[in-house]
Amino acid sequence: MTSVATADLPAVDPGSVPSDLFIGGKWTGACTGRRIDVFNPSTEEKIATVADASVEDGIAAVEAAAAAAEGWASTPPRKRAEILRRAFELMMARADWLAELISIENGKALADARGEVNYAAEFFRWYAEEAVRINGEISIAPSGANRIIVQYQPVGVSVLVTPWNFPAAMATRKIGPALAAGCTCILKPATETPLTAFAMAAILAEAGVPAGVVNVITTSSPGPVIGALLHDPRVRKLSFTGSTGVGRQLLREAADCVVNCSMELGGNAPFIVFDDADIDAAVDGAMIAKMRNGGEACTAANRFYVHEAVHQNFAEKLSARMKAVSVGDGWLPATACGPLVNAPSLRKVSEFVDDAVARGAKVLTGGKKLDRKGFFYMPTVLADVAPDSKLLHDEIFGPVAALVRFKDDDEVVRLANDTEYGLVSYVYTQNFARGMRIAERLDAGMVALNRGLVSDPAAPFGGMKQSGLGREGAHHGLLEFTEAKYVATSW
Ligand code: NAD
Repeated sequence: MTSVATADLPAVDPGSVPSDLFIGGKWTGACTGRRIDVFNPSTEEKIATVADASVEDGIAAVEAAAAAAEGWASTPPRKRAEILRRAFELMMARADWLAELISIENGKALADARGEVNYAAEFFRWYAEEAVRINGEISIAPSGANRIIVQYQPVGVSVLVTPWNFPAAMATRKIGPALAAGCTCILKPATETPLTAFAMAAILAEAGVPAGVVNVITTSSPGPVIGALLHDPRVRKLSFTGSTGVGRQLLREAADCVVNCSMELGGNAPFIVFDDADIDAAVDGAMIAKMRNGGEACTAANRFYVHEAVHQNFAEKLSARMKAVSVGDGWLPATACGPLVNAPSLRKVSEFVDDAVARGAKVLTGGKKLDRKGFFYMPTVLADVAPDSKLLHDEIFGPVAALVRFKDDDEVVRLANDTEYGLVSYVYTQNFARGMRIAERLDAGMVALNRGLVSDPAAPFGGMKQSGLGREGAHHGLLEFTEAKYVATSW
């Protein structure tokens, strides 16, 4: 592992980013006057404070979104599309600035942050294109008695709750389709990374999004505030990205008013390397699947199942690559892996590794936190991880690869599917038919076959089992913000 120098200061001033609530097109403090501190995970220094919304502020955001709903729903799709396209262009014009802001508040390496900005902006471009393609259907009833006309209408005021790990992309992946479909919304970003969300709100306003169509609130009491929103009858949609535990609670809250829910929850991705895999390609893919975002991704490869015939070769090559990763402050260009987002995340990663080692895992590289300020953990490879180790059953959300040997196809499919999660699986084999057979047997909403990355705005992203409900991206993501209305008629 290479440690990067910390001398350079970031060029972006977090103090220049709006930090009040964005409600009805205006920046406003919380009605209690309370603020939330925001920290830089590389230095542990406070970089800003943002408004801390109460239930009253949340309801004010619902008022604003409800007041704007009819006007936005009846805005011509072409106009909605052009506003989204303009938002894409503004994001790309400010990509370097946004990337640095993301690195400062989230800690991720600048290259990852730059990748995120491109990915995030693409949702605005994709949904600008989708806004004019909300096609309905018409058919003759099988009886011949009438016609069936189906139109896709906006579902209504939408509450969007996002995590800190992709502060720009998780927001645009919801705002893009919501706006394209004709919905107004209230975004509640994570308190670890609120500045990116406020920067996005400013970009959307500049792009021409009318007042009240997008509102952004930050709060240190997400349970009561989101709970109140979900009990307001004007709110018709919840789109949540975050942990499975919080997702379950929100589904219960949403049940009272039968709010339409789309849930993007946790993952526990298996990465399977068969005996006929191209090992160099598998190691390249593993580095992306594991180390994109420093391992803090719902799609991150969590469990590496490696055929016993290629285990040693793969383990040696992966360990060498992990050992060479440069770790340092997120915003420094030489950094490949930044810190974890906060102290609890660092504690969790340390605890999971210690637990695996106590159960017999061998540390091939890394295995401890860095002795410096910031929430840094060394890129780590563990081999012979015992089946009952915590990190095989729960998301580690850090730069740790856990290796397990297997012998045959049936065994590895059983191991891969032995989890409550079902977001993504990675498969490496040079036999395409074998890869497709295995892909069909894996309980996952997405399979990467000989690739380390699945995310694509044009593809339906989402999970099976307790990894979620519904899909984001593609045309599927647009339909999540619509209701099918059927008219029975005859002529
Ligand atoms: P989290 O569940 O703790 O928080 C997510 C969001 O929910 C934050 O905005 C948080 O403030 C809010 N929240 C927390 N408690 C709440 C409550 N009681 N009521 C309402 N809102 C509440 O998750 P996190 O730690 O921010 O993010 C990491 C998790 O997100 C991981 O599990 C990861 O797998 C998941 N994730 C999933 C996807 C996906 O597309 N499936 C993408 C990114 C992250």
